Amino acid sequence: MDRRLFMKEGAVGLLALAIGTSSCAAAKHLGIDTENGADWKKPKFAGKYDVVVCGGGPAGFMAAVAAARNGAKTAIIERYGFLGGMATTGYVAPISEFAFKGERVIGGLPWEFVKRLEELGGAKIEMPKGNVDFDIELYKLVAQRMVLEAGVDLYMHSSLVGCQMADKTIEKVFIQNKSGIEELEAGVFIDATGDADLAELCKVPMISDLKGDLQPLSFCFVLSGVDTESELLQRYMYHDGKHGHSECKPVRNRLLELKAAGEDIPTFGGPWFNHVMHAGSVAVNITRSAANSTDNRNFTDVEMRLREDIYKFTDLLKRNFPEFKDCYVSSTAPQAGVRESRRIKGVHIVTAEDYINAIKYDDSVSRGAHVIDIHSSKGDNQTVIELKQAAYIPYRALITEEYPNLLVAGRCVSSDRTANASLRVQASCMGLGQAAGAAAAQSITEKCSVQKVNTDKLVETLRKWGAFV
Ligand SMILES: Cc1cc2nc3c(=O)[nH]c(=O)nc-3n(C[C@H](O)[C@H](O)[C@H](O)COP(=O)(O)OP(=O)(O)OC[C@H]3O[C@@H](n4cnc5c(N)ncnc54)[C@H](O)[C@@H]3O)c2cc1C
Repeated sequence: MDRRLFMKEGAVGLLALAIGTSSCAAAKHLGIDTENGADWKKPKFAGKYDVVVCGGGPAGFMAAVAAARNGAKTAIIERYGFLGGMATTGYVAPISEFAFKGERVIGGLPWEFVKRLEELGGAKIEMPKGNVDFDIELYKLVAQRMVLEAGVDLYMHSSLVGCQMADKTIEKVFIQNKSGIEELEAGVFIDATGDADLAELCKVPMISDLKGDLQPLSFCFVLSGVDTESELLQRYMYHDGKHGHSECKPVRNRLLELKAAGEDIPTFGGPWFNHVMHAGSVAVNITRSAANSTDNRNFTDVEMRLREDIYKFTDLLKRNFPEFKDCYVSSTAPQAGVRESRRIKGVHIVTAEDYINAIKYDDSVSRGAHVIDIHSSKGDNQTVIELKQAAYIPYRALITEEYPNLLVAGRCVSSDRTANASLRVQASCMGLGQAAGAAAAQSITEKCSVQKVNTDKLVETLRKWGAFV
């Protein structure tokens, strides 16, 4: 059989760079027909920056704002057409947690973001935990405004697909979008992809091998036509913690009863009904399945199945709870939510012991106030460990021993599974992004590697901005 492989414009040129040969040779190497098939081009130069941030989630967009405000010429790369990461692509809510027992532990740019959201009517701050309910669309708008006002260049609808290294230094990254394959040069790169995609491309050692047990995916959605004034929703759609956990026990118990009685009920978590700032609507976190989000086929299969589950659960809610009798799925998240994937092995690994004992480091740059929350990948349960004090995360968890211009921020920082099950929440990730951005800019002005950044000065900058570190 005559088999030809056609590739996207530019992809062969990129391959040539990667294997250090001419594009024609690279094409031949793969058996690609460059005469009759797609043409190839060299990646196009897109820009040269002090700092390039990969990923526009809570960690990434904060990192970009922080780097730019600290004087760096900054760009951000995001594969969707809007910012916010899991908050806006996964509908995970609320933004957890800015406070511990009423005392705020995350401050600075993340808090400025929340206050701006609140001013637009897009946030409700729930003390004493400092959980923040939010309007998904206004989240996107305020994030975009902060990034643009800081003078950051945006490369949206762009996926990070490669990088060029000189020894352990990253010289440029390659992105793919409708303009083809483009390259961005920078002095410092921040990996805020959640999945540590850039670090993986650079072959940074990882803590998680993705082969063992991973926390499950949950595909969240918005239900409208819900009686949000009912006693049930008024009790469970807020997250101040004044009356215990926000997991909706009455619905959970009824679903478990129905399951025990033989009804076909998929594996589920919670459920959690989250306030989205609009009467009659709630964001629902109930579906779950084990999956590896970095394996495209596995992720796709599971996401398709969970979309079916969304409708099964909607039907169950309509049939069994009067508060949901008129409800309908008004929107599904752009993708299933990912709780756990790669984590880098950094200079310091934040362990459960460090975290639970709230060890304070000289280079503490973010905090953690959320319970340690490990969702079962196979069952309907989760393990919860309450914190006695708010935890600290050191700068050394954002850097590796060997890579002089790579910082990592957000969910993929160097942490063991248990510590990560708390620090992965958005407020902590925003704090990590703020620190990574400030440090990246400082590495440029101090003309030093990220390992040599003066952490006393970094902490001073973060405190000046309002961080509680
Ligand atoms: C079901 C579920 C419920 C949760 N509940 C809560 C909660 O109640 N409260 C809370 O605060 N947190 C919650 N979390 C956790 C939290 O939302 C995430 O851990 C947090 O958003 C991580 O932030 P991040 O910036 O590190 O990564 P992400 O939010 O994942 O952002 C990464 C960004 O990088 C982009 N990206 C990834 N790869 C590439 C690439 N190759 N090229 C270009 N762009 C790329 C993504 O599109 C995304 O915008 C929940 C998570 C899940 C899955």
